[in-house]
Amino acid sequence: MTLGFIYETVLTRVVFGSGTMRQVRNEAARLGGRRAIAITTPGRGERVADDVAGHLGPLSVGVCAQAVMHTPVAVTDSALSAVREAGADMLVAVGGGSAIGLSKALALRTDLPQIVLPTTYAGSEMTPILGETAGDRKTTQRSPKVLPETVIYDVDLTLTLPAAISATSGMNAVAHAVEGLYARDGNPVVSLLAEEGIARMARALPRIMRQVSDREARADALYGAFLCGSVLGSTTMALHHKLAHVLGGIFNMPHAETHTVLLPHSMAYNAPAAPAAMERVSRAIGVRDAARGIYDLAKALGAPTALRDLGMREEGIDAAVDEALAKPYWNPRPLEAAGLKALLVRAWSGEAPSLRKPGGSRA
Ligand code: NAD
Repeated sequence: MTLGFIYETVLTRVVFGSGTMRQVRNEAARLGGRRAIAITTPGRGERVADDVAGHLGPLSVGVCAQAVMHTPVAVTDSALSAVREAGADMLVAVGGGSAIGLSKALALRTDLPQIVLPTTYAGSEMTPILGETAGDRKTTQRSPKVLPETVIYDVDLTLTLPAAISATSGMNAVAHAVEGLYARDGNPVVSLLAEEGIARMARALPRIMRQVSDREARADALYGAFLCGSVLGSTTMALHHKLAHVLGGIFNMPHAETHTVLLPHSMAYNAPAAPAAMERVSRAIGVRDAARGIYDLAKALGAPTALRDLGMREEGIDAAVDEALAKPYWNPRPLEAAGLKALLVRAWSGEAPSLRKPGGSRA
């Protein structure tokens, strides 16, 4: 039995189901909103946001479809003008982490309440975390101001998420749960959420690859994403998220794909220092070795397994190691340059994760 821990609950109202998008007007009214602006990404997101605006009825004051990945502050400034011009008193984000990121950046600057309807598995809706980019630097902050008041999970909104994005977005969710299992501020409740989140996601993704409109598998994956996002929101992340963050910031690498490639390698690096966490991951996905199991899962989903296939140049590895060591996150295994370089070399070329045991022998 664990002797002591601190568990902080996230104060977000969660509405989960199929067709729940239709409840957005009631949820907006519940928060006292009278002039809601929908925040989304251009293109497909805009069409879904139009539907949501339709369900908001007289409470809608329009759609702002300016969100892009990594939340650049210049985009936020422009969206802020749109929100002010519309006289909005509430933000309704519809989309993946990019749409939610813009909504959070706006909430930080305006203190407006947020309703979020997530359409990917990234999990940002359950966290008080905001990452923003200015130039090529990405900075992350935690603030209760950016935590959404209400999250409406509607399984139907995820049925159109293409197989390839579902796979990498799902692996992005799994990464939150894995790092929550060995987080410095982890606890038994978070570990329960994390193990169940990984199990649901790992079970659902192969089914989604076979049929993207499999509603039952989609419900499992979205529930898994909710659990994994909750883990991200209540713990602090370690090496894996640091590396993903560094590569996203320096090389503008795609978020979910980069997480997918890095995860088995970060796990292999940390495995000797986090045996209990690895055991729980192994149990969740039904394999002997957790890192290898995650690598095999990504491969089976047809997801990318090499950073070079995501456009990273090999010469960038040293810069990434330097940046990761410059302002390191806490990590269960101490960070050292040679080990990080070896990790990134494998991830860059797409090799399977190293199963070296402490002491040098290979499993
Ligand atoms: P995304 O929001 O950029 O979406 C990826 C693509 O999928 C986009 O082209 C989008 O239009 C499309 N898409 C989304 N939902 C769809 C659907 N249902 N059907 C069809 N197409 C759909 O990507 P993401 O991976 O969800 O989010 C990445 C961003 O989120 C990054 O900027 C990352 O830093 C941030 N993030 C933040 C947190 C946090 O806690 N702050 C957590 C996770 C991710």
